[in-house]
Amino acid sequence: MTTVAKDARPVKPRPRKPLAPVPLSWQWLYRPLFPCTLLPDGSPGLMLLNKQVYLVSVLGELPADGPVIVRGVRFTKADGSVYDVSADTFGCDCGDGTYRPERPHGCKHARAAREWLTQIGMEPAGGDHSADPHPCPFEADGPVDADW
Ligand SMILES: [Zn+2]
Repeated sequence: MTTVAKDARPVKPRPRKPLAPVPLSWQWLYRPLFPCTLLPDGSPGLMLLNKQVYLVSVLGELPADGPVIVRGVRFTKADGSVYDVSADTFGCDCGDGTYRPERPHGCKHARAAREWLTQIGMEPAGGDHSADPHPCPFEADGPVDADW
């Protein structure tokens, strides 16, 4: 007996529901330090993001002269997963950021990074990323009572 494959019914494309912005709640458990003269790689902070703890590092360059240039923000989960958010495009390389780029305001990492950088006076998307909102606390003219 032979089986004859039935003709597949034409698949009617279902209209996709527009993606909703991802729910977001974040707070610092302690803040990261930006790269500076004494800590050229900066120092990671801890962020509670949607009830999950992330190690958060500032990806930046410290030019020979002038303030740090922030290139992005790195989120590292406890299981070792690493997600980088670009400070220029606020694109993220996590699954949500990669496969749902049309999501309004991006994935949770991108939203949290954008909100934080905006909150501390860093211009998002193509703006000036060379501000120094958290000067090195170990340098002579840095803040002594930083709240980190
Ligand atoms: Zn992401």
